[in-house]
Amino acid sequence: MGTSLAPAIILFGSPGSGKGTQAKLLRQLLRAPHISTGDMLRSHIEAGDEVGRASQQLIRAGKLVSDDLVNELVKERLRQADCCSGIILDGYPRTLKQAKSLLEMTAENGFRPIVVHLSVDYAKTVARLSGRRQCPVCGTLYSLKTNPPKVAGICDLDGAALITREDDREAVIRERLREYDSLTLPILNFYRKAGVPMVEVSAGEASPDQIARQIGQGLNDFGVAGAMDAVSPGSVSR
Ligand code: ADP
Repeated sequence: MGTSLAPAIILFGSPGSGKGTQAKLLRQLLRAPHISTGDMLRSHIEAGDEVGRASQQLIRAGKLVSDDLVNELVKERLRQADCCSGIILDGYPRTLKQAKSLLEMTAENGFRPIVVHLSVDYAKTVARLSGRRQCPVCGTLYSLKTNPPKVAGICDLDGAALITREDDREAVIRERLREYDSLTLPILNFYRKAGVPMVEVSAGEASPDQIARQIGQGLNDFGVAGAMDAVSPGSVSR
């Protein structure tokens, strides 16, 4: 069931589902740009331009930036040449209005939307995220359980004292999960009703490479070229 339309992979995953890791693996596999609206907004803030000024306060307060603003950013991004063979969307759409707008954009620009939904058990998410530590200097992430630093509390790379990110504290994690449910589940239902293909992956126990293979298999079933490379063990390099 191949098709010549470039895939627009819409990556959904709750906080702690490993969405960022999978976005990077998918980018290599499909040779398609990873489009993160969060990253785009942060670079506008760094540049100090109009978009940056309009979003800075909202982001700092943990609020969503306006739909019109992010829709416009994505619309412009999709027209760039590197998107011609496909895109991986991360952090967009986040509201129903964005979800509808994206469907219009993909139709206009000749993309075929496909949802990849990483689901995890929330109890495991809380355990995983609250055990996460980060180096404040180089940004490296550690997990107390699965990927601890060589010396407790100290970054392997630069010796800095590791910290718990403000938004990885348990009460905040629970709030982020509630917000994800209330905003994202309606989008999944909307896309399901609109007939958008959906790859459902259980991202709880498996390793990142195993999850990448499940995603590759699911995308391959929907005719996405290149996705099969993920299916043979050890083929996903970092
Ligand atoms: P996180 O996954 O931790 O929420 P992101 O990098 O995706 O981080 O987003 C950071 C912030 O940027 C969000 O809290 C929000 O304020 C803003 N943002 C990113 N994407 C969107 C979007 N699609 N719609 C509205 N605001 C967004």
